[in-house]
Amino acid sequence: MSQTLEAVLNANAAYAADFDKGDLPMPPGRHFAILTCMDARLDPAKYAGLAEGDAHVIRNAGGRASDDAIRSLVISYKLLGTREWFVIHHTDCGMETFTDEIMRGLLASSLKTASVDASGWHDSGEGSGSTEGNYVDWLTIKDNAQSVLEDVQRIRRHPLVPGEIPIYGYIYDVRTGKLIEVPEATRVGMALV
Ligand SMILES: [Zn+2]
Repeated sequence: MSQTLEAVLNANAAYAADFDKGDLPMPPGRHFAILTCMDARLDPAKYAGLAEGDAHVIRNAGGRASDDAIRSLVISYKLLGTREWFVIHHTDCGMETFTDEIMRGLLASSLKTASVDASGWHDSGEGSGSTEGNYVDWLTIKDNAQSVLEDVQRIRRHPLVPGEIPIYGYIYDVRTGKLIEVPEATRVGMALV
């Protein structure tokens, strides 16, 4: 068994040993959802004060409002009753370190993990790659505040999102743990009714 697998299963056994949350209802008790980045340094339960059953947390690379993130948000309100949403990107996001063109080039070169240094991303070129990456929009980020604004705007204008849900735009600072508002995004995300 891999060390990682063993560690995860041991941690789960300890968690389950005194587990007492088995009767929670499915709908989030605090009626809100967070869309945020998968970055390992972000712990939404801690930075937003969540316990099991409190809120939906939807995560992807960048915390971007992709079609799939919107699918989850729509299910979140339509079937599970959330009434307020947060879009939370963060400082030092990996999505700021590359472009579609770079990612496509790296994948075309090989499927091995790339390395990065001051001059950018490099691929070992070991083994074969794939041009399938050319068909993916990697939703990279040039500017944090701008990406939060764009995503809040996209969700706000989406035909399946009702006007009464306010959408708040924030950037999590990985150095301080603080949530910094992107006022323009929150303004764009204001409830319409
Ligand atoms: Zn990130």
